[in-house]
Amino acid sequence: MRSNVLAASPVLRFAPSPNGPLHLGHAYSALCNERVAADLNGRLLLRIEDLDRTRCKPRYEAAIEDDLAWLGLRFETPPRRQSDHAADYIAALDGLAARGLLYPCFCSRAEVARTAKGRDPDGAPLYSGACRTVSASEAAARIAGGEKRASRLDMARAIERAPSRLVWSEFGEGSTSVEQAAEPERWGDVILSGRDLVASYHLAVTVDDALQGVTDVVRGRDLLAATSVHRQLQALLGLPSPRYRHHRLVLGPDGAKLSKRRQSPSLTKLRACGVSPAAIRAALGFGCDDSGGLAVALS
Ligand code: GLU
Repeated sequence: MRSNVLAASPVLRFAPSPNGPLHLGHAYSALCNERVAADLNGRLLLRIEDLDRTRCKPRYEAAIEDDLAWLGLRFETPPRRQSDHAADYIAALDGLAARGLLYPCFCSRAEVARTAKGRDPDGAPLYSGACRTVSASEAAARIAGGEKRASRLDMARAIERAPSRLVWSEFGEGSTSVEQAAEPERWGDVILSGRDLVASYHLAVTVDDALQGVTDVVRGRDLLAATSVHRQLQALLGLPSPRYRHHRLVLGPDGAKLSKRRQSPSLTKLRACGVSPAAIRAALGFGCDDSGGLAVALS
């Protein structure tokens, strides 16, 4: 697969998942994208990462577009909606499968947890590789019998196939980069396609960044470690590697990063309470208006 765009000018993207309302952490990420796009005179795209059909809802997607417009953010239209592009992910998966880099995994979440070989960089159970040795005939019989399976990347084999030292350019929030070494082995045999998911986040984000010609990925530090997997997939799929700019995260009053799961106050709620877009921009360090008492910590 090849990127269809060799960008003449930088291309950035904000890529929210419509699985809940946006909070100040998303606003910070979107505003960082806007700032870098302006500094580089680049294009700004929106991508709706809605492959997880059980968690993503159209009403959240509508709210995302509404909140971003309210904040004064302008993206090129239309946004790329991942659920419209299954064929792109399937093509990438087929290519990897044809090279013997994928295997079906029948393990349930509970089995993965019970047999884990430690933890991945996100703290999730590290897959033991139990299904790597299931024979092709047994796998075919189980699939024919209707057993659900995920597709996992055989990471050891993948590392053998890609150049020995993979790196990416990491800018953080600054203007100079460091060469960051990828450590895909820390993630083990990641899932690239789920039981009920056409493509996992790792696969879809790698394919989309290439197809959209993204040159600069601006996103939170919580995704820094995952970049090792994305870099490995780029090498396997022959895709260019964007520059990465992992930014600080917005913390809640308890010092933990904001998240939808922790019910962090949504932009919609702040708006309903009379907080202005200018105050949100100011509180997050963008613009010199008064933040109206809205205080935000970043780390
Ligand atoms: N969809 C991801 C999220 O909402 C962001 C993915 C990315 O920026 O790479 O956390």
